[in-house]
Amino acid sequence: MAKQGNNDKMGKIVSLCKRRGYVFPSSEIYGGIASCWDYGPLGVELKRNIKERWWKAMTLSRDDIEGLDCSIIMHPRVWEASGHVEGFTDPLVDCKKCKQRFREDEVKDKCPDCGGELTEVRRFNLMFKTHMGPVVEEANLVYLRPETAQGIYVNFSNVQATSRQKIPFGIAQIGKSFRNEITPGNFIFRTREFEQMEMQYFVRPEEAPEWLEKWKEERMKWYKELGIKEDNLRFHQHTEEELPHYAAKAYDVQYKFPFGWQELEGIHNRTDYDLKRHIQHSGKDLSYFETGSEERFVPYIIETSAGVDRTLLMCLVDAYDEEENRVVLRLSPRLAPYKAGIFPLVKRDGMPEVAREIAKELRSHFRVFYDDETGSVGRRYRRQDEAGTPYGITVDSQTLKDDTVTLRDRDDMSQIRVKIDDLVGKIGELIG
Ligand SMILES: [Zn+2]
Repeated sequence: MAKQGNNDKMGKIVSLCKRRGYVFPSSEIYGGIASCWDYGPLGVELKRNIKERWWKAMTLSRDDIEGLDCSIIMHPRVWEASGHVEGFTDPLVDCKKCKQRFREDEVKDKCPDCGGELTEVRRFNLMFKTHMGPVVEEANLVYLRPETAQGIYVNFSNVQATSRQKIPFGIAQIGKSFRNEITPGNFIFRTREFEQMEMQYFVRPEEAPEWLEKWKEERMKWYKELGIKEDNLRFHQHTEEELPHYAAKAYDVQYKFPFGWQELEGIHNRTDYDLKRHIQHSGKDLSYFETGSEERFVPYIIETSAGVDRTLLMCLVDAYDEEENRVVLRLSPRLAPYKAGIFPLVKRDGMPEVAREIAKELRSHFRVFYDDETGSVGRRYRRQDEAGTPYGITVDSQTLKDDTVTLRDRDDMSQIRVKIDDLVGKIGELIG
């Protein structure tokens, strides 16, 4: 269990998210719905920035990885082949007295709430089911995908043939997945609907161990480049018991959340398990012919599977800081939803007009926030500190004389004067 102080930190982050428009409880006017959350104006920008950085690192900046965007509803036999229909289950027990439901591995022999007796263990499948078409019957049962990976495997030959990639190469996808978790929780960390950033890298079987190590290093580097504190990141290697049935060797990238070290991303050597299963179930040949060696083989797969929502939560937790007079979100400027806040010192003497002009000019380069609300500029600074906006630009009486503004740094609150004409270059340089 998390310590009181840490629960407190999560509580503060949840409340900041609501207050500043990062994350709202879903369907709030109807009382909300368990573990469903909506990303507000700032949350959606932060989320996009995270996904864009991933997409850029995994596809745009490399010539060996292709992108893909598969449908959420797939042929139900995909999930038979993948093993999800049979094996994607949690052990479930019910309390006979208060009827609450628990994961068997998370409770002792009595109900943790009322002390009531528990039922026998049943296997509960975590896939969301629905029906395709107007008739609700077993024949048109379909599932919402529990992972994006399978869409990549079933398209392996399509992508390989059209892109003319040669092994080793990868396929990347960002998209929503759904798991009917018995115990979701910890804000946006574990939700039933979530977004994944997955990349599956196809290699010669004997090269799989080497590629696993390479991807392990690559992915850790990516987290550090988000500005995350190194002490809060680590690898966890799966023990024999933890290894998924399909994997030969697996690591997790973990982050030290207020509720403990938790998985951000799995980096697994999935062997040829998935492609072989799809070959068996579909009857289609998904093997690969390598020119040169003139060999035909079923590739091994190195998977890197990250969660968008938990990456975003990590960024918020890592950035959250309290000082004597303010709360400050020290987000990396590259990730911050707004790059700058623009403030006329007072709402007269032509200052708002100049400030608006600056905002208009900057907007074609960065996302900025204009705020001429009356009241002290200090209060407006504090609001942007909480929102994670790295720079503040203030138009004051000196601006009207020499066309300079104050540029304030969120982190150390230092201020310099910059020519209006130099703002775009200066901020661009600071963001890096
Ligand atoms: Zn009970």
